[in-house]
Amino acid sequence: MSTQKKIVVCGAGGFIGGHLVADLLRQGHTNLRAVDIKPLDEWYQKFDQVENLVLDLGEKEACEKALEGSAHVYNLAADMGGMGFIENNRALCMLTVLINTHLLMAAKKFGIDRYFYASSACVYAAGKQRDPNVTALKEEDAYPAEAEDGYGWEKLFSERMCRHFSEDFGLLTRVARFHNVYGPHGTYDGGREKAPAAICRKVIKAKLSGEHNIEIWGDGHQTRSFMYIDDCVLGIQKIMHSSNVTMPINLGSNEMVTINQLVDIAEDIAGVKLKRNYNLKAPKGVNGRNSDNTLIKKLLNWEPSIALRDGLDKTYHWIYGEVTSNSKKKY
Ligand code: NAD
Repeated sequence: MSTQKKIVVCGAGGFIGGHLVADLLRQGHTNLRAVDIKPLDEWYQKFDQVENLVLDLGEKEACEKALEGSAHVYNLAADMGGMGFIENNRALCMLTVLINTHLLMAAKKFGIDRYFYASSACVYAAGKQRDPNVTALKEEDAYPAEAEDGYGWEKLFSERMCRHFSEDFGLLTRVARFHNVYGPHGTYDGGREKAPAAICRKVIKAKLSGEHNIEIWGDGHQTRSFMYIDDCVLGIQKIMHSSNVTMPINLGSNEMVTINQLVDIAEDIAGVKLKRNYNLKAPKGVNGRNSDNTLIKKLLNWEPSIALRDGLDKTYHWIYGEVTSNSKKKY
């Protein structure tokens, strides 16, 4: 890649995008452009040595501005959140289709070298995730299509758009299906947070207030796997630079736990035991979901491996610092 051309991270003001920019900087890249719709003071991580642009990537002209003079593009921009957000904002989630559509059109126009798209395990068919003792999801389980309503359908459509831009226009695209990513410098309250951050926040608030109870969405028996952000950022770049990952691939941990076990770990880190109140009416998503990593191990000889206990410890302590500091909230 020409050193003059830019590496562009779209959604860089968000959780994963911010960590990706930080990692690219650590590797010594000096040609970085970071783009997000949020005002700069709301970005989780912002670096002055990077070209930071505030743009609405739903707009075609904004995507052209973002990608002009670029070689590599990471599309991590989306209007999204945890189950509480995506179950109640399906139209907003689907409007994210404008971002990937206009970015792909701009990528084609400028003849960029490589394009990465962040898809999700929410593309997987609901019928394969009814049992908490779920069989881990293989890439082919996305079809016949029965994706998560709204958010998952947008991801599935955008995956295919990447595929067809590749087949019809020769644009090199790479697509990863993230399974629940967690870590510091992300959303932990306000309605868009995901289970690990939400549970850390609730445990912290219970500990600080002395009111030793916690509300859990669902019956606590739902199963999930959670990938620590460092594994995610490394996996994104391995997939982006691979020569052989030509179809959407799982990027997730296969350490499956129940939500109750996730709470056990957070309580253990905090040194508290809480009375659990199960809210069966709250959004809880599918009953079981885990990542089958056969394909990523075969193609990249690698898979996410950071233990949930280790990653949650770091996440808990970051959220604790945020909750107890006077720093203004990010959302
Ligand atoms: P995030 O919400 O923290 O970051 C997304 C960023 O995109 C936000 O900063 C937001 O402001 C920005 N954005 C939204 N609309 C925009 C627009 N019109 N123009 C420019 N920027 C816009 O989310 P994240 O957790 O960092 O997720 C990154 C990507 O990974 C998303 O595509 C998401 O769907 C996908 N993903 C995340 C997870 C996870 O567990 N975090 C799981 C599966 C897939």
